[in-house]
Amino acid sequence: MCGVFGVVAPGGDAARLAALGLFALQHRGQESAGIAASDGDQLMLYKDLGMIAQVLDERRLPSLPGQLAIAHCRYSTTGSTVWENAQPTLRLGPRRALAIGHNGNLVNTRELLEGLPGGRSRLPASTDTELLTALLADEPAADTVEALVRVLPRVRGAYSLVVLDERRLIGIRDPHGFRPLALGRLPAMPEAPGASGRRSHPDDPDAAGGWVLSSETAGLDVVGADFVRDVEPGELVILEPGLEPRSVRFAEARPALCVFELIYFARPDSMMEGRNLYEVRRRMGMELAVEHAVAADLVMPVPDTGAPAAAGYAEGSGVPYREGMYRNRYAGRTFIQPSQALRHRGVTVKLNPLREVVRGRRLIVVDDSIVRGTTTRAIVGLLRKAGAAEVHVRISAPPIYHPCFYGIDTSVETELIAASHSVEEIRAFIDADSLGYLSIEGLLRALELPYEGFCFACFDGHYPEPVPYDVARRKFVLEEAPAGRG
Ligand code: SF4
Repeated sequence: MCGVFGVVAPGGDAARLAALGLFALQHRGQESAGIAASDGDQLMLYKDLGMIAQVLDERRLPSLPGQLAIAHCRYSTTGSTVWENAQPTLRLGPRRALAIGHNGNLVNTRELLEGLPGGRSRLPASTDTELLTALLADEPAADTVEALVRVLPRVRGAYSLVVLDERRLIGIRDPHGFRPLALGRLPAMPEAPGASGRRSHPDDPDAAGGWVLSSETAGLDVVGADFVRDVEPGELVILEPGLEPRSVRFAEARPALCVFELIYFARPDSMMEGRNLYEVRRRMGMELAVEHAVAADLVMPVPDTGAPAAAGYAEGSGVPYREGMYRNRYAGRTFIQPSQALRHRGVTVKLNPLREVVRGRRLIVVDDSIVRGTTTRAIVGLLRKAGAAEVHVRISAPPIYHPCFYGIDTSVETELIAASHSVEEIRAFIDADSLGYLSIEGLLRALELPYEGFCFACFDGHYPEPVPYDVARRKFVLEEAPAGRG
């Protein structure tokens, strides 16, 4: 999972706006951050490993002038966490210059690599995005849009892209639309009283505000943009200063938005499919209370992501809601940390029980997922140590039985506890008094949307886009490919 952001800011400082918008997407990736900008003539790039605030330091941004910019924060699903793999990618080719920010994961990387003259040795990094950038830069087409229309039908998997050339910003979603991408309109900036320089005029297209693309609508809110619509699956949206957006369809839409975006990944203040995600998650909690009732004294969330569903569970069950753990907001998400050792240590760094709240009480602890089980087990252990009388764990999603190959780092089945353990075995492993998961039917009731239109593959194994046999190793597929061979 990654965050992508793009800005067309006529007469403005697009790079600063892109940095600001990217801050709203920090939860989508914490390994690296970067910005590419165009001044209409030339593309420039700055990227580094680290959190957005560390990388996109105010003092660096003035060196990225221009009306167009894209930004990216990364959580690795192909390639390791090294500087070269940070995004946006940038390729200055003889045919065109391009920068790309990618959210998602391609599933036919090997096949695409075979089509790249010169093969792996031509790639400065080991991500599928770098490969896609090279293919697009090489494509003998008149312009970037034509190159995209020719190349994208060969690309399979999940990709929500922000693409920048010298003159345009282009937003793209793959034909399934696995990952979200929202289009927003940036209002014209009011002129400061007494401002000097060029006066804006109602007929001046440069005075008409601009356009924004963001992985989530929360990013639009941060820069003051109004939501216009989602980029459609299989669509390119072309944005240029002073012009209305142009739409080009490159593939038939077969929508399969990742349902986990609604359950957990995206911010609760974001909107998807016309729904506010806090409300969706609250309804999941209400359904969970109906499906898995238990006598208890308190309902508490695993902070912060379990909070909306816990509120819904309390509302649905009539059991009082309290916060039973403090979360250190300055520690990263444990799920995002790439190594198991860091992930395990992260629990105690991040969460501390409120002993006065939990001591002697029968607790219903609501969370949004169990992936490996180790985090939940550590949380139950902390609550028991703090004196909880009973700990009943409730999960506002179905068990994750199957790996994801579309941009979430659960691509190794052996790391998914539900793939090899029954619910009772998981309960015993996490040492809870009881364990209940929301059913797929309950989830659909909470979504108030039909199953069609979503990817539910990690719950039911129905993969909307077929994945090749060697997918289990595919995170590092480009690192394994011998340099010099296609
Ligand atoms: Fe989302 Fe699961 Fe589908 Fe991956 S497999 S896109 S996590 S629903």
